[in-house]
Amino acid sequence: MKAVFKRKPAKGMELIEAPVPKIGPRDVLIKVSIASICGTDVHIYDWSRWAQQRFTPPRIIGHEFVGRVVKTGEEVTYVKSGDRVSAESHITCGHCYQCQNGSAEVCRNFKLLGVDHDGTFAEFLVLPEHVLWKNDSDIPDELATIQEPFGNAVDTVLSEDISAKTVLILGAGPIGLFATGIVRACGASLIILSDPNDYRLAIGRKMGAHITVNPKKHDVVKIVMDATKNNGVDVVLEFSGSSQALNQGLKVITPGGRLSLLGIYERMVNIDLNKEVIFKKIRIYGITGRKIFSTWHKTSRFLSSGLVDPTPILTHQFPLKDYEKGMKLMREGKCGKVILRVDG
Ligand code: NAD
Ligand code: ZN
Repeated sequence: MKAVFKRKPAKGMELIEAPVPKIGPRDVLIKVSIASICGTDVHIYDWSRWAQQRFTPPRIIGHEFVGRVVKTGEEVTYVKSGDRVSAESHITCGHCYQCQNGSAEVCRNFKLLGVDHDGTFAEFLVLPEHVLWKNDSDIPDELATIQEPFGNAVDTVLSEDISAKTVLILGAGPIGLFATGIVRACGASLIILSDPNDYRLAIGRKMGAHITVNPKKHDVVKIVMDATKNNGVDVVLEFSGSSQALNQGLKVITPGGRLSLLGIYERMVNIDLNKEVIFKKIRIYGITGRKIFSTWHKTSRFLSSGLVDPTPILTHQFPLKDYEKGMKLMREGKCGKVILRVDG
């Protein structure tokens, strides 16, 4: 089978011919139809500082996908051949304190698909049945593949009520753009989206942002304070991983407001805890992964009902062999979500 493979601890990847993986009694063999590229995959290609610390080659990469079950181990009961599935990328242990207390998204022993376990940028993939998600027949393949990052956005937006709130979204990458659509669908009264990339801000307007701001050209703090009649916003959602953006968010959040953080920072971040958090009584949520599987149910309903239509975000498609073209667009920020067609 064809697969995108990271062979060595250095920059680059290669398309290889690999053996079809074997299944154990609780495993499922899946023929991948579509995979999609996440920023993590580009980090692994570029051999960033994060990748050097977290990733051990050799490995087939990728963790977002939709495909069909082609073979099941003898103990598998949840799926059968022909089922159209995606999967939770956190392969959880099921036995640690967190798994046993309903917080499997922070499982102490989880293995990450495409990082610790051979991934989805391949014609075939093996996964244990407990991480599989059976797709709703109303969700087309192009949307089924993005449920994993869409779920990140769902949990960030819905860590508290959002209806009728005023909201600042920092970062209009694919996940910030998914969040924009979710915030709009959930009835926020004002949505302000900030990103230095005008191409992505234009997609954000299609997803329902009322005001878009380019922080390189305009004063984000002034625009938010003017738009909220100097009240500040009820909610700040951070998807940029920029400490500058985070500090802007903290300045404009109204006292008693809520901050949810998904973006990942390259280094330690300086914030004025006394002034911006404690005396303002801000509630801060760290978000990682998705709740397994309650978030998948929400994601599936947002997409199958048409409540959120993320098609403006799905800007590019390539055959698997052209994965490098997709990664180049992502580095340049000239795309929304990039999809790879694995089945031709
Ligand atoms: P992305 O890199 O495509 O998007 C980040 C966006 O932030 C870009 O469009 C960039 O132009 C913008 N940005 C940069 N500086 C900014 C600033 N000063 N103000 C406003 N915007 C700014 O990433 P993505 O795939 O959309 O993911 C969003 C973030 O979430 C990333 O930081 C990613 O690492 C992180 N992430 C976290 C988890 C988790 O489980 N916590 C999971 C997936 C992704
Ligand atoms: Zn666990």
